[in-house]
Amino acid sequence: NADIAMYRAKEEGRNNFQFFTSEMNELVSRKSKISMSIRKGLELGEFTVHYQPQIDITSEKIIGVEALVRWNHSLLGPISPAEFIPIAEENSMILQIGEYVLHTACQQNKSWQDAGLDPFRVAVNISAKQFSQGNIAEIVTSALYQSGLAPEFLELELTESIIQGTASAISKMQELKAMGIHLSIDDFGTGYSSLSYLKMFPIDTLKIDQHFTRNIHSNPKDAALVDTIIQMAHNLELNVIAEGVETLEQLAFLKTKKCNQAQGYFFHKPMLPEMIEELYVKA
Ligand code: C2E
Ligand code: MG
Ligand code: MG
Ligand code: MG
Repeated sequence: NADIAMYRAKEEGRNNFQFFTSEMNELVSRKSKISMSIRKGLELGEFTVHYQPQIDITSEKIIGVEALVRWNHSLLGPISPAEFIPIAEENSMILQIGEYVLHTACQQNKSWQDAGLDPFRVAVNISAKQFSQGNIAEIVTSALYQSGLAPEFLELELTESIIQGTASAISKMQELKAMGIHLSIDDFGTGYSSLSYLKMFPIDTLKIDQHFTRNIHSNPKDAALVDTIIQMAHNLELNVIAEGVETLEQLAFLKTKKCNQAQGYFFHKPMLPEMIEELYVKA
């Protein structure tokens, strides 16, 4: 009967609505819980930095490590940077997180050198807000000064979105470059910027985004893009590193295309600093 059908529809509608709102609430509150607890998390030492080796494809030696922030939240457990970095960008806590990672990475690299490891570079991710708002050259100078690390052993990973064309971005990059710091473009090929920035900006390295690497053997177009990026990097006299290398087949492809370096689970996952030392002892 029509009334009963109408009643059911209303009930269902209400339930759907309630379900929807409680789900929304949960999402909103997870996001705001994260947002509100970053400062405290930093104070309590819940943030740490892991390091993922970068490998020279010809010699298979470690030529650098990428610093990747980790957060083990007291209530929520481990939270991925893919989740909390965008939130930290929104509420500007990225500035504090960024300084923490930069200082930690520089100090860590200096301790590795002091412990007698062959010197290599540490690469630190710099987010858009950190680059545009903070005085990045001053922050970097202070991290180098306090740690005693030489600038040639620090690399900053910038994304295409950061450097999109503004004159102030170019002059900031030139300032960093003049200090002797290496600059790379992270997630290369996923931004929307024009290629002409490659000739204007003082960068050293292109990092091929892991999405392209992942599909080398499943999508011929991704393989063609990887090939093209490598050749272009060589023609522009830039170093090139492939991210997200997981298989021997991917590595073999990169080798035939003369890609310089690789980073990915095939070699090593991001790890605690002590594990980096162990790798060296074994090597
Ligand atoms: P990213 O800078 O492109 O870093 C590479 C990401 O790929 C890392 O994820 C790394 O753990 C992961 N990865 C490495 N090799 C492989 C592989 O073979 N397969 C797969 N599937 N993944 C691999 P993670 O650590 O979760 O970081 C995600 C993103 O969060 C980073 O992407 C970066 O954009 C951001 N991030 C991480 N740490 C920081 C930081 O200290 N500051 C800023 N601003 N952003 C950070
Ligand atoms: Mg990176
Ligand atoms: Mg990347
Ligand atoms: Mg990224």
